[in-house]
Amino acid sequence: CGIFAYLNYNVTRDRRFILEILFNGLRRLEYRGYDSAGISIDSSDPNRQFSDSAPSPLIFRQEGNIESLVKSVYKDVASIELNLEEPFAVHAGIAHTRWATHGEPSPKNSHPQTSGAGNEFLVVHNGVITNYEVLKETLIRHGFNFESDTDTEVIPKLAKYVFDKANEEGEQTVTFSQVVLEVMRHLEGAYALIFKSPHYPNELIACKRGSPLLLGVKELSEDMGRGASFLDLKFISENGHPKEFFLSSDASAVVEHTKKVLVIEDSEVVHLKDGGVSILKFESDKGKHSSALSGPSS
Ligand code: GLU
Repeated sequence: CGIFAYLNYNVTRDRRFILEILFNGLRRLEYRGYDSAGISIDSSDPNRQFSDSAPSPLIFRQEGNIESLVKSVYKDVASIELNLEEPFAVHAGIAHTRWATHGEPSPKNSHPQTSGAGNEFLVVHNGVITNYEVLKETLIRHGFNFESDTDTEVIPKLAKYVFDKANEEGEQTVTFSQVVLEVMRHLEGAYALIFKSPHYPNELIACKRGSPLLLGVKELSEDMGRGASFLDLKFISENGHPKEFFLSSDASAVVEHTKKVLVIEDSEVVHLKDGGVSILKFESDKGKHSSALSGPSS
């Protein structure tokens, strides 16, 4: 029903701040109605890890209203002794309010939906994937176990399939946007999606077809406070100013933070990385060469 994400760059935020930003985003989405909600945050600062990918992100999902999610998150955070004051120089958080279309309201059907153990790919989704049954069958044949009754779950699993396959085959590493573009090639229906992955710890990807999606960028250095209110992507990508990125299906969740907002068009893919924004355009295969990655069509 609603999606929201937050990414900071070059500005240190602690875990409590990040949780509260996500909860406030969800409260802004509340008026549209929903039956469950969920978030994912990083378990520690990926910049302090010395391995290829960050540890598996944490997921919190709950049936019912936002305040019950908030309560259960703080309870869980306390029980696993997560430090709310832990600083993050970069943190990618995602959040979702769900209006169930496939699968009853329940924690396992709430989003983020995941690729499986290790939460290698996480997705929040608004909309409906109309060809999910055939994708699910194919992925099951490829050894994936499904845990939810949602249409959405095929998306993170497809991302993991594409990622693993590319890594098996490729000499060069596959980028996050290549993975998502390949996933989109297989999806039919309507969607706004946000992807998070410990393989790409400081990045977020969002894309859409037929469901609304907005990007907001808040520049935090003083000299950026004045000036144009439109989002100058070229400039954003080139400066190293501390900033915060917001993605949402609903303008109200973004404009409370910044007036620099971009409405994302159908088939566009937003890649947030290293303080920059790249917007790619997804083009379907018709009349084109087949993609470098091959999907799970058997
Ligand atoms: N079709 C998805 C589900 O049932 C997403 C629903 C939504 O937009 O909230 O989980």
